Amino acid sequence: MTESPSCLPIAPAAPAARRSLQGQIVWGPRVVTVGGSAPVRVQSMTNTDTVDVIGTAIQVKELAQAGSEMVRITVNTPEAAEAVPHIREQLDRMGIDVPLIGDFHYNGHRLLTEYPACAEALSKYRINPGNVGKGDKHDKQFGQMIDAALRWNKPVRIGVNWGSLDQELLAGLMDENSRRPQPWHVKQVMYEALVTSATDSARRAVEMGMDPAQVILSCKVSGVQDLISVYRELARRCNHPLHLGLTEAGMGVKGTVASATALSILLQEGIGDTIRVSLTPQPGEARTQEVVVASEILQSLGLRIFVPSVTACPGCGRTTSTTFQELAKQIDDFLRMQMPVWRKRYPGVEGLKVAVMGCIVNGPGESKHADIGISLPGTGEAPAAPVFIDGEKALTLRGENIAHEFQQLVENYIEKRFGTQAVTEAA
Ligand code: SF4
Repeated sequence: MTESPSCLPIAPAAPAARRSLQGQIVWGPRVVTVGGSAPVRVQSMTNTDTVDVIGTAIQVKELAQAGSEMVRITVNTPEAAEAVPHIREQLDRMGIDVPLIGDFHYNGHRLLTEYPACAEALSKYRINPGNVGKGDKHDKQFGQMIDAALRWNKPVRIGVNWGSLDQELLAGLMDENSRRPQPWHVKQVMYEALVTSATDSARRAVEMGMDPAQVILSCKVSGVQDLISVYRELARRCNHPLHLGLTEAGMGVKGTVASATALSILLQEGIGDTIRVSLTPQPGEARTQEVVVASEILQSLGLRIFVPSVTACPGCGRTTSTTFQELAKQIDDFLRMQMPVWRKRYPGVEGLKVAVMGCIVNGPGESKHADIGISLPGTGEAPAAPVFIDGEKALTLRGENIAHEFQQLVENYIEKRFGTQAVTEAA
């Protein structure tokens, strides 16, 4: 006897609900909600010298146009603090309203106090409790930064990093551990130090008057399994919004895969409200790559939709030409490049699905699942490329100009479906 299926239809897996409080990061009329039911936000960081106002403003613009919803800049010297309001003005002039976050270490208490225009121009302050001062100075200088946040009504991120962990706290926990009848593994003590540093600092900020929803926490480490352990514990112990990121993720494929692995597991568990992918750019690679990867992680998990998706097959022995790979890349690049303009002109276009397939085996099927798809001829097939629109075969392209003609068809489809005319007709 055959057993009948027990629970069809099978629903797709879904990320667990997030449990954090919802805060806001504001610049002018632009309000970016963070935490709670708000979308998981993409953050990035510049690698320009902040003193270079124009260079920094241009990179912030590029990151914002690539989809970064907040951009962090380092504020490390008085000159950098002086430059911040000018960067902000430059961005405002360019129509870029992305909130700027100031990254402070060692001297943030002084810079935020002595450069009020900098404190005002920033939309959030990142405080590293491991770098705010030692001994008696620690609490005083941390307090000065929170005072600035309260004065200017700004949220903060208390960003712990295991590369700059509060050594006094760690030493204290190590001593405590050595007195345990059964001491913890040294890694457990390290995790405890990271989480305690973040939660103790957050408690102090709240005691000073900060709204808990405006205190975002992070505990970054560079190992995937370490990151997962630390954030599970952090999420268990508090309901502050959490910023996720694998610190010093590395370059290229390694950094991308490690970040995607760690962040995806946590996001699926409902942990994480903002993310950053800390990729080391490869020589010649755009800084915006970290935004592309972060967006793709969220889009792959079904948490956000940023850009139209291009489904392309990997190719195999049935395709000896590279035409379909080139076309897939060309279409992907084209769609991505147009998005800063299209986001405004074609509302909803980010949900578009395009397929570029290499032969008849899966080509027509996959193309029918897309909004618009093309099945290129494999080796030995007739030199014809059927195009499918909304699940139906619409026409067949032939000849040398297939790539250009298909791109034109995609553009026409977008105009017809998402353009003003289409919206007016639908209304
Ligand atoms: S669609 Fe055709 S070319 Fe592409 S992987 Fe499948 S069999 Fe190979």
